[in-house]
Amino acid sequence: MKQEQEPAKQEVTEVGDNVLRLELDISMPGLGHVNCYALTDKDGVALVDPGLPGPKTYETLVSRLKQADLAIKDIHSVIVTHSHPDHFGGAARIAREAGAKVIGHANFSFGPAPHHDHTHDDPCAHSEASVDDLAAHDEAEVHDEEALEAVSKAVVSHYVPSTPERRSKGTPWGGESAKPPLKMLLKWRFFQLIGKSKWYPEISDHVHAGDVLKLAGREWFVVHTPGHTEDHICLHDPENKMFVAGDHILPTITPHISGVSQRVDPLNAFFESLDQVAEIPDVESVIPAHGHPFNDLAGRAESIKHHHFERLDAIKDIGRELGPASVTDFSHKLFKKRSWGAMAESETYAHLEHLRIAGDAEVYENKERKLIYTTG
Ligand SMILES: [Zn+2]
Ligand SMILES: [Zn+2]
Repeated sequence: MKQEQEPAKQEVTEVGDNVLRLELDISMPGLGHVNCYALTDKDGVALVDPGLPGPKTYETLVSRLKQADLAIKDIHSVIVTHSHPDHFGGAARIAREAGAKVIGHANFSFGPAPHHDHTHDDPCAHSEASVDDLAAHDEAEVHDEEALEAVSKAVVSHYVPSTPERRSKGTPWGGESAKPPLKMLLKWRFFQLIGKSKWYPEISDHVHAGDVLKLAGREWFVVHTPGHTEDHICLHDPENKMFVAGDHILPTITPHISGVSQRVDPLNAFFESLDQVAEIPDVESVIPAHGHPFNDLAGRAESIKHHHFERLDAIKDIGRELGPASVTDFSHKLFKKRSWGAMAESETYAHLEHLRIAGDAEVYENKERKLIYTTG
């Protein structure tokens, strides 16, 4: 089992000076827990990524805090590394109950991402692990029904474009939009009635690259790392040589890079963000959102980049074999059959667009309005 898949452990562990790791259950494909970090200081505690929305996670959070002699009322700040529900889930309720401020990047958004002149929703934009990683474990065991509902709601609001007209448009590359299961659709209707304000956090303090946050009694620099999402931030503490990585850099899996983004070339943005963190000197402890702490930040950034370079080479080879082909056709060669679908296509599209922009691929739209790529 990959470490990111391990179920949440009860123990609260100290991973640095005034930094505690609290593991919270999540039931998303390929992931068994999310790490919430508690950074304590004389005023109380700041939490980074307080897990999924829903009462079950909240109860777990309360009991984990109690183990460290902390309570919800002690939380003065919540830092959300990016706009995925397993990271921002608890923030809205903590803000209500503790009066905590909620800190996120200035671009923080859970809305559909505009892509050039396209206005499609990406069904995969809010997935976590890459398709490769998902393929390794078919069905995640669902052990938290409420968390599932919360995630369903978050995911389904992205599966289902808001108007029938947009629904008929499919994906930017001319593929079929993923259809959510009926159970999810029903839940989605139910959640529409409740309204999303209950669980979607209002960011009270927007931050930018280079901003300094005072946490755990010392200074942490905000590092903006677009790629996995446009609004992703990491935190760097030069004094204690620590780095909060969120989903940007995970110990053994690679984060999903969606082809539908505000960026023309989201994969390139991810590469630049990997280079950016690899250059940070003297990091000794990296604390990721999933999996265990590790120490080689630059090495891990490099190997994630290498993984994508191999995928780009594989796509070039596929293009030579297939000749002009659609994103779907490329994805069917690139991924195993059980991974086929919108998520695989989205990641393939990101790679093909990266090649096209680098001059290594050409594209045209065929009569069926599908994008057809040729690689050199
Ligand atoms: Zn994420
Ligand atoms: Zn995550």
